Amino acid sequence: TILVLGSANADLVVTVPHRPRAGETVLGGDVRTLPGGKGANTAVAAARLGARVVFAGAVGRDGHGELLRTSLADAGVDTAHLRTSDRPTGTAHITVTPDGENSIVVSPGANADLRESDIDALPWQDVATLVCSLEIPVPVVCHAIRTAAGHGVRAVLNLSPVTDLPDDVLPLLDPLVVNEQEAEALGTSVDVPRATVITLGADGARLGDRRFPASRVRAVDTTGAGDAFTGALVRELDQGVTLPEAVGFAIRAAAWSVTREGAQPSYPDLADLSGERGR
Ligand code: ADP
Repeated sequence: TILVLGSANADLVVTVPHRPRAGETVLGGDVRTLPGGKGANTAVAAARLGARVVFAGAVGRDGHGELLRTSLADAGVDTAHLRTSDRPTGTAHITVTPDGENSIVVSPGANADLRESDIDALPWQDVATLVCSLEIPVPVVCHAIRTAAGHGVRAVLNLSPVTDLPDDVLPLLDPLVVNEQEAEALGTSVDVPRATVITLGADGARLGDRRFPASRVRAVDTTGAGDAFTGALVRELDQGVTLPEAVGFAIRAAAWSVTREGAQPSYPDLADLSGERGR
């Protein structure tokens, strides 16, 4: 079983003719409300590929919380450890301009209410692989990674959004997953683990000196591509395949996701990927 620990947000998306300046009001299109958050996205990506997934997170007592519960459950994710908080469900307020650029304000809400006691209550004896991302309190993520190590559970971290971690945590990761900008932000100031996967957008990914080119696809929407990558990667690792093989699979799953609109709705199942061979 894969345990995904991370954020669950409602993405509130509005298209605008231009970004408002300070003090300006701009009229936009109808708001679209979509299930998102790095944690929930990763859980859905892995489950859609057939993995057994438990999601640990928190949502509020509101419609957005229901939306996230439903999207996770529809993908086959176990939501028994998705706690209901008194704070509102996290939201990402996304404005998209005609050039396709977006600006995002995230209100963490219930995600910020996750605690170390939530980690201690998880079914660790059933878990083989833990995958975390940020957008939730860093001490909670660190506690989960240390707890995983204590149980002999493999720990994978998508260090996004990038932040400083205590020195003892990075060496526990197998692997650390970052995109190019996050890798740059980490720099050489810290000892990155030997097993570090760097995703390179349309250029694929890198593991140590080894490069994995991306499938050539017509990209429509790259939202949530990194989460598709991480979800597919842990799906393979949980099956016992080697890290390089898992990276090769994750590249194919992430490439599929960028050819479809949205984050979670764009994630493939196994049949989608087998049909895509040789395209
Ligand atoms: P993030 O979404 O976290 O910024 P990236 O942009 O590096 O991460 O994308 C993650 C993965 O998604 C890449 O490693 C690649 O496999 C896939 N991907 C992203 N953009 C494209 C693209 N235009 N064509 C093919 N694959 C892509």
